[in-house]
Amino acid sequence: MSALSHQQWQKRADAIVPVTTAWIDGPVTSRSGRTRAAVNPATGAVLAEVTECDEHDVDLAVAAARRAFDRGHWSTASPRERATVLHRVARLIEDHVEELALLDTLDAGKRIVDTTAIDAPGTAAILRWYAESLDKVYGEVAPTGADDLAVVTREPLGVVAAIVPWNYPLELAMWKIAPALAAGNSVILKPAEDSPLSVLRLAELVAEAGMPEGVFSVVPGAGPVVGQALGRHRGVDVVTFTGSTSTGQLFQQYAGQSNLKQVWLEAGGKSGVVVLDDVEDLDAVADGVAAGIFTNAGQVCSATSRLVVQRGVADELVQRVVSRALAVRVGDPLDPATEMGPVVSERQAARVLELMRTGAAEAGTVHGGGVVDGMPAGTFVRPQVLVGVDAAATIAQTEVFGPVLSVHVVDTVDEAVSVANATPYALAAGLWTDGLRRAHGVARRLRAGTVSVNCVDALDVSTPFGGFGQSGYGRDLSLHALDKFTGLKTTWIRHG
Ligand code: NAD
Repeated sequence: MSALSHQQWQKRADAIVPVTTAWIDGPVTSRSGRTRAAVNPATGAVLAEVTECDEHDVDLAVAAARRAFDRGHWSTASPRERATVLHRVARLIEDHVEELALLDTLDAGKRIVDTTAIDAPGTAAILRWYAESLDKVYGEVAPTGADDLAVVTREPLGVVAAIVPWNYPLELAMWKIAPALAAGNSVILKPAEDSPLSVLRLAELVAEAGMPEGVFSVVPGAGPVVGQALGRHRGVDVVTFTGSTSTGQLFQQYAGQSNLKQVWLEAGGKSGVVVLDDVEDLDAVADGVAAGIFTNAGQVCSATSRLVVQRGVADELVQRVVSRALAVRVGDPLDPATEMGPVVSERQAARVLELMRTGAAEAGTVHGGGVVDGMPAGTFVRPQVLVGVDAAATIAQTEVFGPVLSVHVVDTVDEAVSVANATPYALAAGLWTDGLRRAHGVARRLRAGTVSVNCVDALDVSTPFGGFGQSGYGRDLSLHALDKFTGLKTTWIRHG
């Protein structure tokens, strides 16, 4: 629980002056002079008018990034030198946790208790982890004959474009930026239209830490304009993307139609949590199931939005999950007592409400859902639990990105695995069981990049994150993320 009261947070929020300029070799406005309103989803108030970049600004950012890369102040700096700057950035983030957290809370509606405890400090921790890792990753010496020496080194790839969504504006950006910079690349970040403010401030902190000019740029703007321009740009070597599957498909096309740049996709999900009938502590499981879908108002790519439960414990568990859903305190994200804030925008709320209606029509029993009346904006929705939903129903196959849980009752373990795996996505899965053998056996059969057993959405900078199928490929976090931002180079020396 935050040490500050709601009123104190409100006072600090009122004093925030957001950065509104893009960052290309320094603070810039776009040549077009256009801006986009940053709107607080919790109130509908305009927080700032933010520079809206376009193709021309992308050209400038790519040229700056390329110049910086070729100049080599960063790309050929020793690992220790790079680590020093990255640690300084981390320190500045830590010094500004409250400000960065407030920016994400105001801009994206995320709870202040989460942005101060998870998003902002987590961002610094990720950066420190990569700063500490980068001089511990060794190259290889290949097994050649005695007359040869073949050395395999990791080389930075050049200009990396990072395109990110709005659900973890600062932290998800850092999932991309940290390993890409650690590896020596120049990075151009395109935030989501709904959440540019925290990373615009980050750009200032990165420069303050002594990052050479041009190495890190931020270009806010529309996906189909700035995102597309980066995706099609011949000067961009790598795209690292997090967002919806359909936008991910576009980036594959952009690459094919331009310079065959590498495209790494972290896309959508429709993850299932399986509960087997041997679980004893149904309260703990219900807490986990509720957290798995209602955290961040369901706007989590790895949210477990489908509960697949064995019949023996179904009634008791569902009753507990429903009572938790109906008791969730929906409110102002600046209030530390709030359990669920708004969704990110009126547009997203309309989409969630539409899917809630679709789900309600497909379910046997409907609990909760709908908009919360009497709030300052129409972005506050109520958690919804849909019981008795066919595994093939629209609501069980469509990513809502909102607090909607469908419940699927099954008889056997085989059926549970088959329902859990029955979507085109494969990002995450949950499993609750008290049986050690079942835990291992079933976890193995669940198709997902991460399986959380007897815990919720397990995640750490030390473990790879990403999916199979239409959830994308490539991994964020861990040392494996460096694979995306480096190329393997063989230098073969004949000396015999
Ligand atoms: P989105 O795909 O609409 O947008 C993501 C980014 O792509 C934004 O920066 C956006 O401006 C840009 N974009 C949009 N249209 C574009 C276009 N035509 N060309 C180029 N760029 C374009 O996704 P969203 O609504 O911002 O975020 C929600 C989605 O993100 C969900 O599907 C969620 O599952 C996914 N997500 C995935 C992960 C993961 O790690 N797998 C994490 C968080 C969110």
